[in-house]
Amino acid sequence: MIESRNMTFTDVQDIDEEIHEACGVFGIINQDDFDTARLVYFGLYALQHRGQESCGIAINDDGNITGQKGIGLVPEVFTDKILDRLEGKAAIGHTRYSTTGGNSIENCQPLIINYKDGRIALAHNGNLVNASKIRCDLENQGAIFQTSTDSEVIANLISRYGLGCNDLVEILKKTMDVIEGSYALVILTQKRLIGIRDPWGLRPLCIGKLGNSYILASENCAFDTVGAEFIRDVEPGEIIIIEEGSIKSVRTNYKRPHKFCIFEHIYFARPDSIIDGASIYQSRLEAGKLLAIEHPAEADLVVGVPDSGITAAIGFSRQSGIPYGEALIKNRYVGRTFIQPTQKLREQSVNIKLNALRKEIEGKRIVLIDDSIVRGTTTKIIVQMLKDASAKEIHMRISSPPVLNPCYFGIDIASKENLIAANYSIEEIKELIAADSLGFLSVASLLKTPVGAPPHSFCTGCFTGEYPMEIPQEMNKFSLEKC
Ligand code: SF4
Repeated sequence: MIESRNMTFTDVQDIDEEIHEACGVFGIINQDDFDTARLVYFGLYALQHRGQESCGIAINDDGNITGQKGIGLVPEVFTDKILDRLEGKAAIGHTRYSTTGGNSIENCQPLIINYKDGRIALAHNGNLVNASKIRCDLENQGAIFQTSTDSEVIANLISRYGLGCNDLVEILKKTMDVIEGSYALVILTQKRLIGIRDPWGLRPLCIGKLGNSYILASENCAFDTVGAEFIRDVEPGEIIIIEEGSIKSVRTNYKRPHKFCIFEHIYFARPDSIIDGASIYQSRLEAGKLLAIEHPAEADLVVGVPDSGITAAIGFSRQSGIPYGEALIKNRYVGRTFIQPTQKLREQSVNIKLNALRKEIEGKRIVLIDDSIVRGTTTKIIVQMLKDASAKEIHMRISSPPVLNPCYFGIDIASKENLIAANYSIEEIKELIAADSLGFLSVASLLKTPVGAPPHSFCTGCFTGEYPMEIPQEMNKFSLEKC
């Protein structure tokens, strides 16, 4: 075993999914005769890939905002009976993976809070970098928090700025003035549905229309699911206010250079989504093609790690002329969050999810494509699985650059000591995962993959260490002693 400078390769605990998603948001003001709750349910279903820990719906029935939320997947939390109870003409929904605050029921969203004019509900995708400081300041002024999420800090500021001010836009602008980080928000008030995208446009948010009803969603794949048409993306720093069939845009002064998260293109977003004009599927195809140019291999078969490596594998195959084939079969009935009660079962979790097609790979030289290597443990197990099934050689190709830094903007990328590429050279990683060769896509090529989008319009912080904003030292430490 290669000794690590900071990490012990064989000690890494999580050998399930290496990167976790952030969250998905959805909202509608129903001007037609749709079943509002079921429409949000299907919208959340389409956004399930963005978060599988918990989900919720908040609904406005004639000014009375109530909700239902729970731990689990959308179909686990929402039964027909529950959806029947959720009546109203406007609603928002949320699918969550926790990056701030634990996975407890209090932290599930949408958050519903009382403020001077009644109630508002809020659903947030992203992560504030200055939440702990704002929270401490608010607590010192007597504020009480029900959750440990940064999203409640936003809700608290909105309710606080609402005191003595009836201008909603002013309240939202004041809130945006204070919060820093990534946020795609949908907010339900007693009369309106509001969408806000942070000034850097780090997380996606778009506008759709179904009949006479406007919809907001993290990704346009949710519009396709409910039969809505895509109108446009919300711009960085823009506030969208939807009320009784009308839509208003407020472009604030906070807009910064667009820095959309490039990892959405590599992994998080659904391939059938188009974000800020660039197709996620085409980006992944392009990444595979560029990878074949940068790191060619002498091989008989190109294989993608299901599901995230498949599209890039097709791109690699098209560029290299090496046939594309299947070599790994995924058990589609294993959920992303299946129970792993013991260390022994943890070690077997990849085998429970994936199995090799021995007859397809016996004696062959394989190019194995995955979207990223974060901790590296899963990759090692998959390489071993293919070798055990008699593959002759495994040439590992990664359709993104080495992940060297954590993410502060809502994607659960491990701290530096758990990132394999931050602790080992590429040659060492090749040995650790027991591959015959290893190649990563360069940052320069990665920035060319979102076809049609300018390369400077992306955040690449986890690869380059260059974040769009300064990261405060106390980031995410909700500690009362600090206040
Ligand atoms: S640091 Fe990486 S994962 Fe986080 S927003 Fe930037 S590109 Fe996306």
